Amino acid sequence: MTPPLKKNDSIYVQIEPLKSIVTETFKHSGCSPEEASRIAVRLSGANLRGHDSHGVIRVPRYVDYLKEGKQIAGVTAEIITESDILAVIDGKFGFGQTVGEQAVDIGIKKAKANGIAITALQNAGHLGRIGDWAERAAAADLVSIHMVNVRGSLIVAPFGGIDRRMSTSPFCAGIPLNDGEDPIILDMATSVVAEGKALVALKGGKPLPDDAIITDSGDVTGDPKPLYGDTNQGEFPNPSNGPGALRAFGNHKGSGLNFLMEMMAGALTGSGCAGTLSEPQRRFCNGMFSMYFSPNAFGHSDNSFVSEVKAYVEFLKSSRPTEVGGEVLIPGEKEKQVMAERLKSGLPLAPEAWEDIVKTARNSGMKQSNIDLILQ
Ligand code: NAD
Repeated sequence: MTPPLKKNDSIYVQIEPLKSIVTETFKHSGCSPEEASRIAVRLSGANLRGHDSHGVIRVPRYVDYLKEGKQIAGVTAEIITESDILAVIDGKFGFGQTVGEQAVDIGIKKAKANGIAITALQNAGHLGRIGDWAERAAAADLVSIHMVNVRGSLIVAPFGGIDRRMSTSPFCAGIPLNDGEDPIILDMATSVVAEGKALVALKGGKPLPDDAIITDSGDVTGDPKPLYGDTNQGEFPNPSNGPGALRAFGNHKGSGLNFLMEMMAGALTGSGCAGTLSEPQRRFCNGMFSMYFSPNAFGHSDNSFVSEVKAYVEFLKSSRPTEVGGEVLIPGEKEKQVMAERLKSGLPLAPEAWEDIVKTARNSGMKQSNIDLILQ
């Protein structure tokens, strides 16, 4: 059974059946039911918020990581250095959805007790959509900042260069508002787009901006192919294989911010930078340097922090829009709009991406009849 094709030739799948299929796939692949469910909630949650790049399109790749031993099921993150306000945490190549959550909870606990905290997570499996972690901190009334690098993922060219020397290194921050109100979440790769968006475009989904890719000969293009090169029949596209690279966003400024992610999330956490001349191909992992702040520790009283934030948001949004009928959005607002829409319409997936997910589910041992049952 295939869900219906709708506008843009996308397949629309509702969130709950999608979560069930992904959960079952990871259970069949060696994860505990709890971990499988965590992975499914996080991946489908990224789709729900419009970040298809960090959504269920990653299922085949994560299953491959498990088989290859790049990511390990059932790992508990371990604190290796600690003070009241600092923890250096080894993710031991466990799933990011598990060790990332554990690291964030350590940061939350310390910041709740001491007003501020810093965590340095090294050797984490893919941490997915980093906004998840800022949202988790905001739910505990904490402001947070997260700087992330991807060791072993050389897919971005620095400003002024052609060759891959950087990862897509996301930067993320969360600002909590009042209870029951969604937090403000800035969450972005420091490349023009996250790699997964190139994968989505390659699989027939939303096209890339015209300046997203640099080819081997230094030309700028929106074609994702130079990032992946040729993919053999039956193989999953690998961004390490192409002759081209993603570009850092915002020319020298985005390239500089990307560099800072390598310093904080790679060098300072001890996780390691994307690569070095002596070791260009390192083992893949995310490093994450996180800071947590309780607004109360800054002496705010009577909700004055949230009041000031909200007054500024109102002022910002009062700017005249550049387009007729347009609107100035604050960070995280787009995701909320997409989520409201997708909870009704279902999640759009390119047919090829959907086929890959079903194929991975079947290869993991799920029966087609069970998949059909879930989709009914
Ligand atoms: P993006 O280009 O869509 O930028 C997202 C940010 O821009 C959000 O904060 C969003 O609210 C804001 N935004 C979007 N439209 C806006 C508008 N019209 N006005 C104002 N603000 C707007 O996202 P991206 O850079 O492609 O990143 C996608 C995801 O990839 C993120 O969730 C990121 O955490 C994730 N990522 C993860 C890794 C990893 O290794 N785990 C690596 C790279 C990226």
